[in-house]
Amino acid sequence: MMMKITEPAREIDVIHQTDVLVVGSGPGGLAAALGAARAGVSVTLVERYGCFGGNITAVGVEGFAWYRHEKTIDSEGIGREFEERAKASGAGVPEPQSDSYAIDAEAFKPVADALVLEAGITPMLHRSFVAPIMQGTEIRGIITESKAGREAILAKRVIDATGDADIAHRAGAITLKTPKEEMMAASVMFSMTGIDKQKFIDDVKANPQTYKDWESGEWTVETTGKEDKMFSPFLRKPFEQAVKSGLIPKNLNTISGTWGAIYDSGDLTYLNLVHLAECDGTDPTDLTKFEIEGRRQALLAVNALKKFQSGCEGARLRNFGMTLGIRDTRKIDAAYNMTELDVREQGKFEDTIGIFPEFIDGYGILILPTTGRYFQVPYRTMVPKNVSNLLVAGRATGGDKVSHAATRNMMCCAVTGQGAGVAAAISVKHDLAFDAMNISLLQQELLRQKVRLY
Ligand SMILES: Cc1cc2nc3c(=O)[nH]c(=O)nc-3n(C[C@H](O)[C@H](O)[C@H](O)COP(=O)(O)OP(=O)(O)OC[C@H]3O[C@@H](n4cnc5c(N)ncnc54)[C@H](O)[C@@H]3O)c2cc1C
Repeated sequence: MMMKITEPAREIDVIHQTDVLVVGSGPGGLAAALGAARAGVSVTLVERYGCFGGNITAVGVEGFAWYRHEKTIDSEGIGREFEERAKASGAGVPEPQSDSYAIDAEAFKPVADALVLEAGITPMLHRSFVAPIMQGTEIRGIITESKAGREAILAKRVIDATGDADIAHRAGAITLKTPKEEMMAASVMFSMTGIDKQKFIDDVKANPQTYKDWESGEWTVETTGKEDKMFSPFLRKPFEQAVKSGLIPKNLNTISGTWGAIYDSGDLTYLNLVHLAECDGTDPTDLTKFEIEGRRQALLAVNALKKFQSGCEGARLRNFGMTLGIRDTRKIDAAYNMTELDVREQGKFEDTIGIFPEFIDGYGILILPTTGRYFQVPYRTMVPKNVSNLLVAGRATGGDKVSHAATRNMMCCAVTGQGAGVAAAISVKHDLAFDAMNISLLQQELLRQKVRLY
């Protein structure tokens, strides 16, 4: 049995009070804070790292809407605003496989700062949520840890946008995890610099890759067929050559994947080449092991590209993401758990808070929204069971595996984020519990905020 100690009880300063407290500032949390502030309540945004943006900025996930094609009917609202603001601020670059802009992970940091400050949100970086403040099953605020020690923040409503449902889990809500062997892989993301762009692009054109090329050995990808011939910015050949030459060990034939954007300056970013299976992102022992292993594999990939990819001969590593990228951890058991059928067959809901195109990417499925099909996202997928005053936005909302392969995508996280933020504001202003939400008031405000609901 593990040795135990008793942590002494202590008094903690209440450093701040707010109407709506959003914890976590990824596409979900940032959109939630903005949605709530624009609906007219006081909002505080707590983030453990030194920048807002979550996976976009901290991991370097730049493909915000890489699924978008001519006929795609896309979400509207704050997610689109992220892309437009990035573009207008020089933090967007044309994305190579779609009608969209990739978001420059570094340049988006000040864009997110500006969005937060313009909306009058109280920013709190460098504070980590560590415990909920509960009265029975009602959450009343959170305790944070930082260089200043433990501090309390009280709130009328709390939005859990930690990606991992940290708050819901600690507050006693039921949360579920995919078995570790079936979890989507984690990735150390990285970027390179010193690429000869013309040579690189000429080579990509000479050796065009498609989404079908994602398949290899036992790894299969279910598509609708229409994806199989479409261009994908995919790299496998240099790594196959590196394995053959002994530069990469044989057991690392998993190194391959996509590049995100290439700049005139010779930067090649959002290199999604390292896939680390069986990493539980809620276990710090796994996180430690795979950060180290991921960096090792990323360096092998850099060396392989320098040797075997035209245009990369004089290149070098520019940076790793600030942290390992985690795709798949806890999800709440929600008032409504979305299903595979909802995302595959254009699900419709009376309590819709927004739409997302039929884009499914994960657990061996890739379906691109090239036909104009889309589904609605219900409010109830954000409402946890057993805990009141709490909503969950982003990739931890309720649903089965395949539904998550759609809703985990950043644009959809922005949809649930904005929906949760506006719902929290309505809930405060009209004194409504989350399980007694007035859907008509919620939808009116979302429409005012230019969200497409139907
Ligand atoms: C390698 C990789 C590649 C991906 N590629 C794509 C892609 O191309 N397109 C796409 O749409 N999606 C992609 N995804 C998925 C997508 O990035 C995520 O599903 C999405 O960012 C989730 O958004 P979120 O707001 O729920 O959480 P996150 O973006 O994870 O944000 C959560 C935030 O909460 C903060 N936080 C967590 N715990 C605490 C705490 N205890 N206290 C305070 N703050 C906390 C974190 O620091 C972070 O800023 C990818 C994911 C990974 C890992």
